[in-house]
Amino acid sequence: MANHIFGRSTKGQLPTAVSGDGCYLIDAAGKRYLDGSGGAAVSCLGHSNAHVRAALHDQLDRLAFAHTGFFTSDPAEVLADRLVAEAPEGIDRVYLVSGGSEAVEAAIKLARQYFMEIGQPLRHRVIARRQSYHGNTLGALAAGGNEWRRTQFAPLLVETSHIAPCYEYRDRRDNEATEAYGQRVADELETEIQRLGPESVMAFVAEPVVGATAGAVPAVPGYLKRVREICDRHGILLILDEVMCGMGRTGHLFACLEDDVSPDMITIAKGLGAGYQPIGALLVQGAIYDAIAAGSGFFQHGHTYMGHAMAAAAANAVLDEIKGRDLLARVRTQGEKLDAALRVEFGQHPHVGDIRGRGLFRGVELVENRETKAPFDPARKFNARIKANAFEAGLICYPMGGTIDGQRGDHVLLAPPFIIEDNQIDELVTKLSGAIKGALA
Ligand code: PMP
Repeated sequence: MANHIFGRSTKGQLPTAVSGDGCYLIDAAGKRYLDGSGGAAVSCLGHSNAHVRAALHDQLDRLAFAHTGFFTSDPAEVLADRLVAEAPEGIDRVYLVSGGSEAVEAAIKLARQYFMEIGQPLRHRVIARRQSYHGNTLGALAAGGNEWRRTQFAPLLVETSHIAPCYEYRDRRDNEATEAYGQRVADELETEIQRLGPESVMAFVAEPVVGATAGAVPAVPGYLKRVREICDRHGILLILDEVMCGMGRTGHLFACLEDDVSPDMITIAKGLGAGYQPIGALLVQGAIYDAIAAGSGFFQHGHTYMGHAMAAAAANAVLDEIKGRDLLARVRTQGEKLDAALRVEFGQHPHVGDIRGRGLFRGVELVENRETKAPFDPARKFNARIKANAFEAGLICYPMGGTIDGQRGDHVLLAPPFIIEDNQIDELVTKLSGAIKGALA
């Protein structure tokens, strides 16, 4: 086969995926891979789901595309209604896009336009958190706090500054209560707002449970509530990025429901299309939309494929499955089992510092020294070796180097399909354990 496609990997040949079967992907040589991370927290229903396939065939037979400049479509309207019905209080407008970066990009532009239209044009700055990832398009990249990703594209279009993430394992002081830690770290937002000048800040962006860059690190109880209070005090919008942790991954359709916080905007993607179609969504408080509707009358943004009927049909079918098969309850029970199995396997492991997460969104942090929490030397590329060993053994997991407080450490993110069975949890943990052992050798 000619090698014309370029993408993430330019080194070596990747296996060709040819089919999927529940929690497994199968390559051209017939090898089966247990999808322990749903790719990157995407395949929440597993592969080749019969209901989604039928829904997509059905939609294709009727309508694939009608430009949103001229038409709306039933699947898009139904999807918006269903998302609003499940969303936190006050969220009642939906903007459909094709992925996570597009959703974050739209959120930033909507925030900017909102403040322009309500007569606060000085508000242009975004505050986010160090080491965060919010997407790869220029605006979303600007929001993210990963220096390595940012530096090579600076100067970035949106002025963003970064505060500490909520990262209990490394940053809570020995005799500090968890709640007090959450308040202290949230108060860094207040300090940063004062430093920048409250009248210049438009939004604070954060993931309720940090995914790819940290390995499923939930905010401690009370943190997001405090952040909400601080944003309210200064009229700053709270944007929660649930591209990875949303759509049931944590056991709630929206992760922030567990924190009992209503943000101004929520971004979702990944699990919304569950890998069957590219789709993302920006969910917005009505008051923001109303201000724009009463002003210029429309959001000055748009993408050709937004609100695509096939993509919306896939998302509706995903919601059918999540609701109809009570998969949120299943995420919670299987998530507890995965957590328990990880603790049995790694609870005493000399190089596992932390096991954390919610639902079927779990992370394992690896350290050189368990007592001091000292990380491995990055030059050892420990995470890359775990990934390669696991893949060889037929397990897809999502190891990353660098934790959310900088370039320290290695972690493995696990986000298997919601349909994972008990014996597949055992397979996942056994193969991961072997991969870590091999990387240590
Ligand atoms: N936000 C978060 C939290 C993400 O994890 C990602 C993807 N890893 C994105 C945004 C960007 O989503 P996409 O890759 O679909 O553009």
